[in-house]
Amino acid sequence: MPRAKNLLKESVLSFSIMLILLLINFSKMHVILAADEASNNNQLEKPAKYSKFFDEKKKWCDSLVITCNDFRFNTATQEFINNRLGMKGTYDYISIPGSIRNLLDRNTRDLVLNKFGVSVLLHHVKRVIILGHQDCRIGYGGTKNFKETLDEYKTVCKDLKKARTRMGIRFPHLKVYLYYIAILSENHQRVYNFEQIM
Ligand SMILES: [Zn+2]
Repeated sequence: MPRAKNLLKESVLSFSIMLILLLINFSKMHVILAADEASNNNQLEKPAKYSKFFDEKKKWCDSLVITCNDFRFNTATQEFINNRLGMKGTYDYISIPGSIRNLLDRNTRDLVLNKFGVSVLLHHVKRVIILGHQDCRIGYGGTKNFKETLDEYKTVCKDLKKARTRMGIRFPHLKVYLYYIAILSENHQRVYNFEQIM
């Protein structure tokens, strides 16, 4: 009998320990959940801090810039759009591999136009700037794929114009401006030339 009593005592003790551990875990979980809730509440309150951003959003942006994602042209392109065209803060910026090639390719045309359409409709876009560039490896296999620089220039410009026509068919209210970016060398420095294609 004393052995049975001991067993009973041990069982009660084990059960009590388990219960205490469970209670500790539960209270921990409660604290974590409460902390999460608090941080969620903070997140909900945060936008007030950025109210200026949301107010500005109501002004929309009237332009869409479409360019290739080639990193070599990114800084120069942003500088051109922001400073020389004076459009800083007023445009959506879409950079896709090969730029307009995606617009002319039957397989990707609809997808790309639909994505552009979201931007055009949501942000009340009225003007589109499309840029093509020299040595576009993704779109044309690079300069090495052309016999002469002039051939490359003519090909990209022709495609830019085709892209403008496509955009015009889909979004007749848009004004489309085209630019060709050439890489020049001045005093052993790389210089980017932005030429408007009419
Ligand atoms: Zn490119």
